Amino acid sequence: MSYQVITHDDARYETLKKGFNLRWPADGQQAGAIIVCRDADEARQALQYAVDHGKRPTIRSGGHCYEGFVSNNRDGIILDIGPMSGLLNDVHAGGHRYGFQLLAGNQNWDGYVGLYKLHGKTIPGGSCYSVGAGGHISGGGYGLLSRMHGLTVDWLSAVDILLVDEKRKVHLVHAREDNGHADLLRLCRGGGGGNAGLITSYYFDDMPPAPRLVALQFLEYDWAQLRHTPAMFADLLHAYGEYWAEADRQSDGYGLFSLLKLNHVSTGKIGLVVQYTDENGRLDDTGPLVDFNQRMSQACLPQPLSGYLAGGSHLPFVPHRSIHARHHAALPPHTQVMDIRHSDAERFRQQPARQIQVSLYETGLYRTRGERHLSPPEPGGSDRRGSQPDAAASGLLRRRDQPRRQRQQRFQP
Ligand SMILES: Cc1cc2nc3c(=O)[nH]c(=O)nc-3n(C[C@H](O)[C@H](O)[C@H](O)COP(=O)(O)OP(=O)(O)OC[C@H]3O[C@@H](n4cnc5c(N)ncnc54)[C@H](O)[C@@H]3O)c2cc1C
Repeated sequence: MSYQVITHDDARYETLKKGFNLRWPADGQQAGAIIVCRDADEARQALQYAVDHGKRPTIRSGGHCYEGFVSNNRDGIILDIGPMSGLLNDVHAGGHRYGFQLLAGNQNWDGYVGLYKLHGKTIPGGSCYSVGAGGHISGGGYGLLSRMHGLTVDWLSAVDILLVDEKRKVHLVHAREDNGHADLLRLCRGGGGGNAGLITSYYFDDMPPAPRLVALQFLEYDWAQLRHTPAMFADLLHAYGEYWAEADRQSDGYGLFSLLKLNHVSTGKIGLVVQYTDENGRLDDTGPLVDFNQRMSQACLPQPLSGYLAGGSHLPFVPHRSIHARHHAALPPHTQVMDIRHSDAERFRQQPARQIQVSLYETGLYRTRGERHLSPPEPGGSDRRGSQPDAAASGLLRRRDQPRRQRQQRFQP
């Protein structure tokens, strides 16, 4: 036996009995032990041990289960495969050659970095860096590039999964569409983790190409203000909902994705996170991004994010590419571009994120945060912050029966 068994007397027990949601385990529901596995064979032995001793096994990869499915396991065993991480390329398994093998203990960050740096590929999965592949991919795997490339499971070709047979013996099955295990593979393509067996590896014939350029926006709305102007709040929600209801009909905008973070009023702000890349994975056509910005700003003008956004991690600040805007069209205000030039990287490398932001303000690119009113996104646009929205008077808000504006309108810096 080479796996590690962590019981109540181990200093790690109190931490490892919990996952990301510290609410669990509920009182009296904690597991008897956590077994930490380093590879598929250790996982097989550990699962066999649990079955042989009548202990209910639950599986943990990244630990990001919101519910208590893993941690609420009274006197059972949590099989923690977190250390089983890694990305391999050009592998043979089950008589088939795959482009990539992702071990199920991998966390999103490992997968993204490995695929990008070594192969220029990406996963159209979630944005939270420490979510584990084990639960994430088996649940679908949805994220900022999913409007463009689908779910992660749309790319999934096969899995290795540990199953318990009728004789209570654990064995590893390689499940692919054409090897008699199509149903099992289908179950692992969105049916959720922990239901059929323990997935040890995911296989992909190929993965989507990583975009070359991505524009990012981290914006906020002041909750206190919206709370006292319900009409403006309604406009904001209408603008957002209507935009996305229409957007699926326009394939040129499939690289656009946003998260409206309707946090509790006590957090002070509503967040809006936006990512965009054009059809070619560049920023030559920023039309859909500009269009989205205009529509949202007409309802209620957002401000650049001024601090921690509750309930959502966001990426570190990256300098505004339009300082050297040569390769792409103009961008709306407060847009960062993920394509840092080497010289920029050197310049900003040693600075903490906050200082980088200050440096950029000093370049005159942005106005300082001290100024409450920032430039509206289009000439003649009105800054509605602080004023009650008056759609009829301003003519800014589109009625439901009005056609959507054409995208040839472009932001002029
Ligand atoms: C902060 C946060 C952000 C998130 N963001 C996104 C997002 O952007 N997009 C998105 O699609 N989802 C997102 N999720 C949801 C996340 O994908 C699911 O909670 C996922 O199940 C977590 O997987 P895990 O391995 O980290 O969790 P775990 O707690 O380890 O497992 C979750 C479930 O999967 C099962 N499981 C885990 N590993 C295996 C395995 N190897 N084999 C079989 N079953 C297994 C567990 O038994 C459990 O039922 C987010 C969750 C959190 C907490």
